[in-house]
Amino acid sequence: MAMTGSTPCSSMSNHTKERVTMTKVTLENFYSNLIAQHEEREMRQKKLEKVMEEEGLKDEEKRLRRSAHARKETEFLRLKRTRLGLEDFESLKVIGRGAFGEVRLVQKKDTGHVYAMKILRKADMLEKEQVGHIRAERDILVEADSLWVVKMFYSFQDKLNLYLIMEFLPGGDMMTLLMKKDTLTEEETQFYIAETVLAIDSIHQLGFIHRDIKPDNLLLDSKGHVKLSDFGLCTGLKKAHRTEFYRNLNHSLPSDFTFQNMNSKRKAETWKRNRRQLAFSTVGTPDYIAPEVFMQTGYNKLCDWWSLGVIMYEMLIGYPPFCSETPQETYKKVMNWKETLTFPPEVPISEKAKDLILRFCCEWEHRIGAPGVEEIKSNSFFEGVDWEHIRERPAAISIEIKSIDDTSNFDEFPESDILKPTVLCPSSQEEERK
Ligand code: ATP
Ligand code: MG
Repeated sequence: MAMTGSTPCSSMSNHTKERVTMTKVTLENFYSNLIAQHEEREMRQKKLEKVMEEEGLKDEEKRLRRSAHARKETEFLRLKRTRLGLEDFESLKVIGRGAFGEVRLVQKKDTGHVYAMKILRKADMLEKEQVGHIRAERDILVEADSLWVVKMFYSFQDKLNLYLIMEFLPGGDMMTLLMKKDTLTEEETQFYIAETVLAIDSIHQLGFIHRDIKPDNLLLDSKGHVKLSDFGLCTGLKKAHRTEFYRNLNHSLPSDFTFQNMNSKRKAETWKRNRRQLAFSTVGTPDYIAPEVFMQTGYNKLCDWWSLGVIMYEMLIGYPPFCSETPQETYKKVMNWKETLTFPPEVPISEKAKDLILRFCCEWEHRIGAPGVEEIKSNSFFEGVDWEHIRERPAAISIEIKSIDDTSNFDEFPESDILKPTVLCPSSQEEERK
């Protein structure tokens, strides 16, 4: 809505004129935002009505859905109105580390609610411009709609870092779980892979391709159910996803001959020893990336199913199929999967499991899921899975949580100085806050 009206009186000082213009602009922005928000809100309401109509819900069910929707809208508005900053949170503990920063358990000072705060160091993110507007509000809302994706509440920034305030998932991540256990049973694997199928499908339905499905991005909630960690944020920045990184492959690189000759127990030990380091490096790990993602010819959402096949292999065998001593070596193995994707005879797994892994890890044209997710759900490996209610039923491995801020499912991380005042510049923090 444009504001029209009388021009400032000529007797006004320049300073006053400027102030008037500024106020006008601010008001215009305020009202046009308000209108846009109102329209978006109406669209969401319409969408809800349409979905309910399609699902043929009874009146009572509709009423419940409507009130749940209204609660969510109110919460969203409330969070949007409050301009949060670092000083509104108390940092309790470092619970995770990634390539571009760290994740902390924090407590909001006024409400006492706990959240996970992801801190991304801008200097470490190569293409800074890309992250200026870290998340469109639309995306935040879209994610808030899904049970399968970690809910993000708010983001803000200062000169050095970006901050994402998300729901805290006390169950830890799948990488940590896999490092604790040698392998998972077929039953446990069936549960986690089935839930991840639904999680991946839910983001595909929203039009997203994750491209970086790996155990560290599968988080577990307080009941032990799977949620995907926020997606697409840093993937493009990691070297592991870039073909150039592998282009000048030095052919005289020491081949991982020793690695290849290890038995599967030693391979699993070596893998687990190096795993965490790999998760923290800006290179990232190419172990889970589909071969077509590396190629110039393009890729589609089916690349996420390949990654799931690699995870399933790792769950049952103890290490992923292409693991090697260097990322370059792994890349070569991924590209050469027809020869390198093999099963060690000394680790017995069922034929059904083997078949499904090979249906996930193959050319994308023939990959399971190409006609739709139903093809995956009806695969015989998933026999007995209650797809409709899996999230409400007990998880394969239950999580023990003693309090809302229990971090016993996370590894120990040393305190870092990422939030130290000497590193932070409070005045610029104020200026740059969105
Ligand atoms: P990416 O994997 O997208 O490149 P990253 O590695 O920097 O980013 P994440 O994987 O999101 O960061 O987080 C690092 C670790 O922090 C996770 O593996 C997990 O252990 C922990 N973590 C992240 N988000 C949450 C959360 N919402 N609740 C609990 N723990 C979390
Ligand atoms: Mg990660």
